[in-house]
Amino acid sequence: MVMLLTGGAGYIGSHTALVLLEAGYEVVVYDNLSNASRESLRRVERLTGRTLTFIEADIRDTARLQKALTDHAVDAVIHFAGLKAVGESTEKPLAYYENNVGGTLSLCEAMTAAGVHTLVFSSSATVYAASDDMPLAETAPTGRPTNPYGSSKLMIEWILRDLQAAQPDWSIAILRYFNPAGAHDSGEIGEDPNGIPNNLLPYVSQVAIGRLPQLSVYGSDYPTPDGTGVRDYIHVMDLAEGHLKAADAIWGQPGVYTWNLGAGTGHSVLDAVRAFERVSGREVPYRIVDRRPGDLAQCWANPQKAETDLNWRCRRSLDDIMADAWRWQSQNPEGYGRD
Ligand code: NAD
Ligand code: UDP
Repeated sequence: MVMLLTGGAGYIGSHTALVLLEAGYEVVVYDNLSNASRESLRRVERLTGRTLTFIEADIRDTARLQKALTDHAVDAVIHFAGLKAVGESTEKPLAYYENNVGGTLSLCEAMTAAGVHTLVFSSSATVYAASDDMPLAETAPTGRPTNPYGSSKLMIEWILRDLQAAQPDWSIAILRYFNPAGAHDSGEIGEDPNGIPNNLLPYVSQVAIGRLPQLSVYGSDYPTPDGTGVRDYIHVMDLAEGHLKAADAIWGQPGVYTWNLGAGTGHSVLDAVRAFERVSGREVPYRIVDRRPGDLAQCWANPQKAETDLNWRCRRSLDDIMADAWRWQSQNPEGYGRD
């Protein structure tokens, strides 16, 4: 079976490429390298002892994408490509809608033209309405996201549902990720953000390695056990395995399926910092600052549906996430380098 991964050179895509290659799939990565390095894929090839096809191109180039689908006799697409920085999305909303929504429209057109009708999409827990009622099941209401990034994810979900209603032979999985973190346990591939990280784990890792002086903890007055924000951190390898299970489950089963991919447990910012310090043996200096606008107090998944339908659940712990994140960071203090 041949899988095309848009954005497959990025953080989650590269780990998923590895899992797919190990499971015997043929992998075609289609990425414009706007937020990734070719080196991630060289390492995936080295780790798996297998080769993949890499195409450096943009998903908004519909003709190029259609040609890639046809030339490589692609069976299914996993769609990771997109811009993902929440703060940046409020400054550049058009770029986010163009890349994420426009890019997905282009992908769907190319898939239609090539006769490929199986799609797994990277959505996010950010589509859920703010709620005090945790954990979140897939039946929880979606909301009005507080930033263009979140809105683009929810819009894409709507587009995919409308597409499947109009063309009922499509099989579409919408995967709502909670907080992906960690790295492959070799320490060879991991998250390599451009510039100063926005997300907690890469920030903590860069403080621990000495690239950044101190973590700012955004708020300690939330109605949570220690006052800091609570999130559901999911190991990127568990997440990658979830894509394999979802793609298998929807193959030849037309419909739209929505699954939460989360661990089902909430951890506070300070829990995460302590776990990181414990497994790395490094101190992570921090100071409490004001809340970050748009942040929720708490957010964690009810992952029961994925367990029932896909026989999938997270196997790796918070300590595993921290140990693997630290192995990646300490072995690659400057990430991949951009080449
Ligand atoms: P990432 O930035 O590492 O990967 C995205 C990849 O897409 C990059 O390799 C980038 O070069 C590529 N890309 C971007 N625009 C493109 C375009 N127009 N054409 C071709 N390639 C393009 O991000 P990630 O963390 O691996 O996230 C993957 C997906 O999962 C994204 O859609 C993201 O929104 C979603 N997601 C991520 C998180 C998270 O916390 N990491 C959480 C929820 C959802
Ligand atoms: N956070 C923090 N300092 C940082 C980055 C994040 O205190 O430098 C907190 C943030 O307020 C939230 C949690 O860590 O409670 C996870 O944030 P992240 O940006 O990683 O993911 P989000 O859940 O916002 O998508």
